[in-house]
Amino acid sequence: MTDMSYLDGNMLDGPLRELFAVDLSAATGRCQSCGMVAPVARLHVYSHAPGLVARCPACTEVMLRLVRAPDRAWLDLRGATFLQVPMPLEGRRPADPAGTRPVGGDRRGGRGGTG
Ligand SMILES: [Zn+2]
Repeated sequence: MTDMSYLDGNMLDGPLRELFAVDLSAATGRCQSCGMVAPVARLHVYSHAPGLVARCPACTEVMLRLVRAPDRAWLDLRGATFLQVPMPLEGRRPADPAGTRPVGGDRRGGRGGTG
């Protein structure tokens, strides 16, 4: 059986908050251009652009861009194939947090009426 129900995007808040609460400079990234895997802390960051531009230490291609405004931020990771983020072992995941019920669970409770 395939379950086509989904949760609304608000449920991403917890997982994303968990992800971005860690120190991303301790993460490891893979350069999309040359394939080099290196800690984010080793990237070459240029801060005199309209934001931060982080380049691969091997091939100098852009791996990450971060632009910050007073009320928002833009994170562009197009130059990175992945970011591997070390996570604490004792991080707990809520089994069934409130407010994450499947959307579209419309069940019919049909009552048979005969005549
Ligand atoms: Zn590279």
